[in-house]
Amino acid sequence: MNMYDTTSSQSKARQYLEQAFASRERHELDDALKACDAAIRADSSLPDAYNLRGVILEELGRREEAILAYREAIRLDVSFREAQENLRKVEAELSASGIQSLLTADVDPKSRPAERPMLNCASCGNPIPAGREVVFAGQGKNATSITVCANCASALEQALQAETSGANIVGAVLFGLGCALIAALVWYGVVVISNYQLGIVAVLIGWLVGQATMLGARRKRGLAVQVISVLSTAIAMLLSEYLIVRHFVVQSLAEEGYTNIPLLLPVTLIVQLIIDGIKADPMTLLFWGIALWEALKIPQARHPRRM
Ligand SMILES: [Zn+2]
Repeated sequence: MNMYDTTSSQSKARQYLEQAFASRERHELDDALKACDAAIRADSSLPDAYNLRGVILEELGRREEAILAYREAIRLDVSFREAQENLRKVEAELSASGIQSLLTADVDPKSRPAERPMLNCASCGNPIPAGREVVFAGQGKNATSITVCANCASALEQALQAETSGANIVGAVLFGLGCALIAALVWYGVVVISNYQLGIVAVLIGWLVGQATMLGARRKRGLAVQVISVLSTAIAMLLSEYLIVRHFVVQSLAEEGYTNIPLLLPVTLIVQLIIDGIKADPMTLLFWGIALWEALKIPQARHPRRM
């Protein structure tokens, strides 16, 4: 290649580059890209051409390819401020949209850009347009967040809001208290038969009573349902403790010849028996605490937290 040819191809490249700038001004991005590529074919040592190529690719939404173009521009001219700034900006955008892996991956410059991974709504399954997704933080420690579309997000929030209004209070009391009485009697029966008391059963009862109360409230949640659930559980704990301690007291009294002890003892004696039972096994209080906590948490109103 002689001097003339070199000059000629350089000036041709400049011409193409002018065209590319002009087409981009007119928002004819495809033409601009073609002219830019022609300029690079004519002279592959023009940092300006690669920088412009990057700008056009970005405007076409092909950010991964734009990164490669900016990198080439900077390789040709390490002090190319504009290209450095462009590269920094598009890399920040890409990493913000979670496609970090592409920044470090060795991508073939001629390969098609990777598609943005299309998110699907976790509720209706429809694809979510970019930027329209709503992410709810998961409940509990290990819960993962869920991503839904805007429609499903507001539907979910409305449904959870509706959960706290119109609770059936009478139903909640009947179910909560009913479950508490049955559970206390069953627990008492099992202890009498097996002669063995397992404190952790209290936790199970708290859970059961919480579920029953919520069911009785017509699957509603909220403070009133929580109060009924906790009180019912407390009654179940106290009643079962009384029955169990009384059973063992009656047993030992029988050995001493005392019989015909009434089912319902004076209140002060009932309280004394329950206190004695707890003193004999202080772990009982811990299990009761967990049980009451379960009863409190189960009918709690749910508020999804948008991330
Ligand atoms: Zn949806």
